[in-house]
Amino acid sequence: MSIHLLPPEIASQIAAGEVVERPASVVKELLENALDAGATHIQISIEGGGQRLVEVADNGSGILADELALATARHATSKLSTAEDLFQIRTLGFRGEALASIGSVSRFTLTSRPLKAATGMRLRVEGGKMGAPEPVGAPVGTVVRVEDLFFNVPARLKFLKTESTERRQIDTLVTHYALAYPQVRFELRQEGRLSLQTTGSGNRREILAALHGIEIARGMLEVLSDEDGIQVTGFTSPTSLTRSNRREITFFVNGRPVQDSALTTAVLQAYHTLLMVGRFPLGTFFISLDPAAVDVNVHPTKAEVRFRDASRVFSAVQRAVRRALLAHTPVPGLDSTQLRWSSPSVWQGEPPPVDLSWGMASAEPQGWGAEQVAASAAAGADKAPDTAHQPAAGRIGVPLLRLVGQVASTYLVAEGPDGLYLIDQHAAHERVLFERFMAQRQSVGAGGELPSQILLQPAAVDLPAASARLLESQLPILRSLGFQVESFGQATFLVRAIPVLLSGMDPAAALRVLVEDFEEDETPLQAEVESRVIARVCKRAAVKAGQTLSPEEQRALLAELEASTSPRTCPHGRPTMIHLAVDVLERQFGRKGAR
Ligand code: ADP
Ligand code: MG
Repeated sequence: MSIHLLPPEIASQIAAGEVVERPASVVKELLENALDAGATHIQISIEGGGQRLVEVADNGSGILADELALATARHATSKLSTAEDLFQIRTLGFRGEALASIGSVSRFTLTSRPLKAATGMRLRVEGGKMGAPEPVGAPVGTVVRVEDLFFNVPARLKFLKTESTERRQIDTLVTHYALAYPQVRFELRQEGRLSLQTTGSGNRREILAALHGIEIARGMLEVLSDEDGIQVTGFTSPTSLTRSNRREITFFVNGRPVQDSALTTAVLQAYHTLLMVGRFPLGTFFISLDPAAVDVNVHPTKAEVRFRDASRVFSAVQRAVRRALLAHTPVPGLDSTQLRWSSPSVWQGEPPPVDLSWGMASAEPQGWGAEQVAASAAAGADKAPDTAHQPAAGRIGVPLLRLVGQVASTYLVAEGPDGLYLIDQHAAHERVLFERFMAQRQSVGAGGELPSQILLQPAAVDLPAASARLLESQLPILRSLGFQVESFGQATFLVRAIPVLLSGMDPAAALRVLVEDFEEDETPLQAEVESRVIARVCKRAAVKAGQTLSPEEQRALLAELEASTSPRTCPHGRPTMIHLAVDVLERQFGRKGAR
């Protein structure tokens, strides 16, 4: 092949590859632009893990109408004009490459309205081909929409990680920026769900909770030092809190997230002899110093920096962290007597056992949990037992929860934006199964049969005579639910198939539960019997208290619960979760009023 200049489209795709590696890099560049524009409110929407859509809307300075096209050109920037400027960088961007790069590998729409302009302007770029700017109504600020990332670079598309990996990456990225800019209000929506929201109050610890969970965020030690022209602030973990790797140690230099193994080492040295071998602290550190003392132009994604005097920065970080550690003597361990919650308003007696059968509303454990979600849900939906079997009219959802773990092999612990949630795994699973059943029921329609799974070996079940009669009368309902059961002699039944939703369940147990304490004179409407039967089966099929779940199982259960229509109660009306509001925790720890 002879030597030739590459066509501009290919050249720009190659260049784009350096800046835009994955959806998270798009989010990063757009966030940096919004921050550089002085935005105080930034809204981010992500769909398809960012591949289908990344939209960043800000209320910053906007772009002048006649500069819109220029903004999307390569090497076009308003942040730099002379070569010397390169060593005095006070903005996050300066390379003038992001918009051009993104525009060349996506369907890109830039809408902007500067403060003084009467209307906004919109410009589309598709795979690097620019349309004509057109006026549109728009609020002051800028909205960048990036759709179908890499639609014209199929090879890149193949290298993308799964959507959930990208989502997590984006969550972490945005949370990091939110931490670095606590005066800015951030709103991140992933697939239509709010996944991060900050108040812009300037309180970093509040945002730290989104990153590590509230408990950890509260326990983190504050780092605050300013010496020798180098300011180090942030949070570092107490020695009682460690990780098995160093991935949760992050740095920002002059507001820019950077990776720097030397800085990590500085932090580790501060913990020298305080941690066990193989354990690492976590922390977030903000380093501010004269821009002239940092070269930020060493990496296309600006992820690395070079310090003019690295050892000075290194020891400033090390000293700052060490000082924070020494200032906080370790928290003494609590013994079991201290662990009892003393306030009667919060914990009265033992919680009822999970498998308690839950017929009546009066059996509700009033007054034990700190704040029962079910109680707050009462106004809208399914709390009373007689309505519990119908799908709830109004959806009372739960916020996006972050799994913390399992306690006593019975409860899942999760963190929400407004505190801690304790979830009864059995009740939660009951709810999840129940809704799956009801959804299938609805999709097959009246008279239809739910899908069933044929058993390799039919199971014979003996029942007491009374139960056998009862079951006999229920056979049509069972059939419609996906059971294939036939009478086999006096009081014996043969189970040939069970509902697909119950696959794995012991067929005899599934059958027995249908007739156990079913009162003979119950002759309610068909639909009601069905949902009652379903509720009963789900109760039996659901994971039990005392059953250890793998982290994957815990997460799956939590996710399914979040997705259900009435996540807050089991089909029998029992609460699936207890909410401990941050407020309540604060009162318990005597923090309220103390600050
Ligand atoms: P850089 O940020 O390195 O200057 P970009 O390609 O990211 O390069 O952006 C090009 C220019 O477009 C910026 O210098 C800025 O003037 C303008 N711009 C981009 N995004 C925004 C925004 N959200 N608000 C205001 N101006 C913007
Ligand atoms: Mg930029």
